[in-house]
Amino acid sequence: MPDIKPVYFLAVDDLEENLLSVEGLLRRQGLMVLKAKSGQEALEILLEYEVALALLDVQMPGMDGFELAELMRGTERTRSVPIIFLTAGAADYQRRFRGYEAGAVDFLQKPIEADILKSKADVFFDLYRQRQEVAARRDELQAVAEENKRLLLESQRYSQALKEADQRKDEFLATLAHELRNPLAPIRNGLSLLKKAGATPHAEEIKMMMERQLVHLVRLIDDLLDVSRVSQGKIELKMQTITFQSALQAALEASRPLIEANKHTLNVAVPEEPIFISADLTRLAQILSNVLNNAAKYTPAGGKIELNVVTKENDLIISIKDNGMGIPQHMQPKIFDLFTQVENSLERSQGGLGIGLALVQRLVTMHGGTISVESAGAGKGSTFTLRLPTVPAPDTSETEKKSKMPGETVSAQRVLVVDDNVDSAKTTGWMLEMLGHTYRLAHDGEEALIAAREYRPAIVLLDIGLPKMNGYDVCRTLRKDPLFENTIFIAQTGWAQKKDRTDAQEAGFNYHLVKPVDFQKFSELIEGITDNRATLPA
Ligand code: ADP
Repeated sequence: MPDIKPVYFLAVDDLEENLLSVEGLLRRQGLMVLKAKSGQEALEILLEYEVALALLDVQMPGMDGFELAELMRGTERTRSVPIIFLTAGAADYQRRFRGYEAGAVDFLQKPIEADILKSKADVFFDLYRQRQEVAARRDELQAVAEENKRLLLESQRYSQALKEADQRKDEFLATLAHELRNPLAPIRNGLSLLKKAGATPHAEEIKMMMERQLVHLVRLIDDLLDVSRVSQGKIELKMQTITFQSALQAALEASRPLIEANKHTLNVAVPEEPIFISADLTRLAQILSNVLNNAAKYTPAGGKIELNVVTKENDLIISIKDNGMGIPQHMQPKIFDLFTQVENSLERSQGGLGIGLALVQRLVTMHGGTISVESAGAGKGSTFTLRLPTVPAPDTSETEKKSKMPGETVSAQRVLVVDDNVDSAKTTGWMLEMLGHTYRLAHDGEEALIAAREYRPAIVLLDIGLPKMNGYDVCRTLRKDPLFENTIFIAQTGWAQKKDRTDAQEAGFNYHLVKPVDFQKFSELIEGITDNRATLPA
């Protein structure tokens, strides 16, 4: 048995030589004889050690053996220690009786017979060892029982969490279907109206309404994609040193329409001097706009929203406060969980999927920050507080050099747009036309090769999943041709995973855009390209 504790015997005798002889007689592996020359010493030893057998000399000056035994009986700790009295000469009946009363299990007469003492002591030694083993087993069993109890509780917790997650998933699917169908109905109506009566006086209004609904739809789908990518750790932040104010401005632009539509007043208090942080501008704007949109959504019309920004040591503290419907205490820790909505009945849905705050929290964490919520309860408004680390101001000379002067004109370029989705290709072409460029369309890989050689574009906007020959192969083939040495190739894909970008780079693409291409990003990219390359091939 590993790490086994010794068995302790206590020998008490006022004569040192007697103690030594008892110790010598009892010697065996695993046994330790503790020696005491008086009752007092014995009691001290008993306080410290758990003793398997006490061998007490009866005749001792001061406290005699019987008195010591009585004291031992009177103490819980030593009550059941077996006692063998060692007496000089035959103990008379009365003395024996007193001894048994005091708890003796035996009497041995001095001079002690070695074999008798040994065999009796062995019995107690073995007995004690067995007790030790039983106790160890009992401890083991207890530990196993406790572990089982813990596992049971844990599995109950897991199963409860699973049940709740499953329920949230069902609710989420219902909400998802509802939320996706919502914007589709007006888009479909708008389309039929435009189809039937092209010259309807409401055409402009219908188009704007359709665009609004489409933007909403795209946002829902973006959130969905984002949340699954964040959960799988697939989102990469493009961290750079930016001013917090620039992200806030983008967020305010995105959220203002909803705030105004609900006739809320918005007060923004931000320090004037730039606050620098290391962040992904788009994602930070998304975080802020999400919380602002919630404040607008969950506050009855005509409410008040306050956005306050302060810096404290190296932290930036942003609080977004509304006087809306508030959040009940018990829901406050849960609203950052995926698919959690305080009020999830479809009739009262505010046009969300219950993933916004989950996404916000994950993005905030990825930025090294925290987000928390406070609300005095239902109907009492909510305050969301974000904390983000600030960074020192960067060297400004570099940033200034990069920024473009306003009003700079863009030189017209020839762009080949390759996309098997004819509608997508056509609308991209129109966007290019609006930017002052000319374009040509192709709808499969082979057609793209022919068109490129005829048209000699300065820029090729290439979809990856194409019939006949995929976008990577089209790019590789054209790259080998000296005609396209200076041509800019832009890949267009549904995913922006790291691997897609690396594949695109390896195939010879200069840039990579995610579908559906955002008009703003697209025009910035084309402008950037044409600015940097004033002399693109003719
Ligand atoms: P969604 O808004 O799509 O339902 P979120 O994850 O953004 O999902 O928010 C989760 C839930 O938290 C909301 O459904 C709403 O019940 C509650 N909530 C969020 N912001 C506020 C707010 N400012 N006031 C009251 N409730 C809020």
